[in-house]
Formats: sequence, C-alpha cells, structure tokens
Amino acid sequence: MNALTVRAAAKINLRLGVGAVRDDGFHPLDTVYQAISLYDDVTVTDARQWSLRVRASDGRDVSEVPLDERNIALKAALALHAHHRLGPDHAAAVHIEKGIPVAGGLAGGSADAAATLVALDRLWDLQTPDEDLLALAGRLGSDVPFALIGGTAAGGGRGELVQPVTDAGGWWWVVVESGQGLSTPAVYAEFDRLHGEDVGPLDEAPTTELLAALRSGDPRWLARAVGNDLELPACTLRPDLERTRTDGLEAGAVTALLSGSGPTWLFLCTDSLHAQAVRLGLIDRGHTR
Ligand code: C5P
Repeated sequence: MNALTVRAAAKINLRLGVGAVRDDGFHPLDTVYQAISLYDDVTVTDARQWSLRVRASDGRDVSEVPLDERNIALKAALALHAHHRLGPDHAAAVHIEKGIPVAGGLAGGSADAAATLVALDRLWDLQTPDEDLLALAGRLGSDVPFALIGGTAAGGGRGELVQPVTDAGGWWWVVVESGQGLSTPAVYAEFDRLHGEDVGPLDEAPTTELLAALRSGDPRWLARAVGNDLELPACTLRPDLERTRTDGLEAGAVTALLSGSGPTWLFLCTDSLHAQAVRLGLIDRGHTR
C-alpha cells in the first residue's frame, strides 16, 4: 500500500496590518508570515474510501477537530480530487499527527490542508502545476497559500497573495499556548466593532521596516518592527491574555507578539540560551505549555 508523509509547519505573523472590512466580509491584510519549527505530520495512504484520523503527538485535546468534510485537510483532498476529475478509484486515508495547538492563531488547519495537497499530489503523481496548487490553496483559506511555500513571505489581498522575502535570521521564539482557543471570525468582528468606520488605508511603511530587520538578522531590530492589529481585539475579548504578555516580558523576552488572531503568544529571544531562560521564567509564572 502506498503511503506518504508531509510535515506541516505552523506560521506566525510578524506583522499583521488589517484594513477596513471588504464587501465580501474579509479584511485586506498587509502581513509578513514566518514558518516556525512547530509542526503537524500529515500521512496519506491509498484506500478504498476517504477517511480522516487526528491524533495529538503529546496527548493534548483534539476532540474539537472535525473529522468529516468540515475539516480543511479533507476539503483540500476533495478539491484536488475534483480538480483532476479523478474517479472513485482514487481515495485516501488521511492521518494527522498534531503538534500545533488547535485554534491557536498558528494556522495548524491551513498547514494540514497545504500538506494534504502536496502529499496527494505526490502520492498519485498528479504533477499539479504550482500555480494550480496555489489557486486551490487560496480558495481553501487565506493562510493556505503561505503554508504551501513556507519560509518567510509577505502576504497581501486577504492573506492569500504571497511572495517570499529574504530572511537572514535564525530567530528564537518562545511560544505560549492558551488553554482555550479563540475564533478568528470573532476577533475580526471585534476589530470592526472597536474601529467602526475609522480604519485608514493600510500603511506599508511598517512592513518596509520589518523586511529590513529580517535582512539584518538582528533580534532587537526585529522586536521594534513587529506588530499585530488583532492584538487589541483579541485582548478585549480575552482580557486574561494581557497577563500572559506581562509574564513573558517580565521573564525577559525582547518583545511579545500575539500570533495571528491569538490566543497564542510569541516571545522573541536573542538566542537559544536566552530562550531557555525566558521559557523557565514563564514556567515559574505558571505557563507550562
Ligand atoms: O480565510 P479563512 O478561512 O482563514 O478565514 C476565516 C475567517 O476569518 C473568515 O471567515 C473571516 O471572518 C476572517 N478573515 C477576515 N479577513 C481575512 C482573513 C480572515 O475577516 N483577511
């Protein structure tokens, strides 16, 4: 039986500039994505019928992940199947081993979808052109095209238009989960509620500064250049998140950054020893994940 595994990395947004809501309900973004070394493994195996299994690599709760066609990895599989007009003789068992927190603002689902596209493309030797894979990915979700290309990339449109950028750094982030997920649409709705009509055009200057910081490899410069417009709405919905930010900064992190729509926090460190110290400081303050 043929099987294939593709590793799916989590993403963070080093900058997440959000514009006024569009007519289609999405928000225009000026963002910079970075893949980090937290990942799921997606294994596809030839099978008589479609199936999906999800397991956590370290015993965390994944019971809220849907196992039917609502799951974005299965949606991706069926979209690729339809794209190539394959018949019922082509089906697969999809197994996801999750290391990325669910609903954490780390695009775990998007990463699984991108990995499923690549895995099935290779398993069945479909040779789907990259632009077709990117178009399929963009229809599945705003973060899925980035998950296909990985590395560090600028994102426009609603996030689906991605362009790789130069990143000279070996960055150290301490990632702190929250026990409870946060809904992305709810955070965007809170952004709209807080800002009303009062959202100016997207300013490109912060991204120019961020790209320069990425080229420099200097974490202190990067710390000054990162930012996330969803921090305020996420913290308004979940005031307990402020505490985690304070704890990370008190533990000595160079800066704190909310990951995507949250609730995961990212704490930037200068090197691995510094990251170890910040991690221990956070554990002392009760943050064990
Ligand atoms: O594209 P994706 O499925 O990840 O989006 C999930 C939800 O997040 C959307 O339905 C929308 O409410 C919100 N969103 C948005 N603007 C974006 C991306 C996502 O409002 N650029």
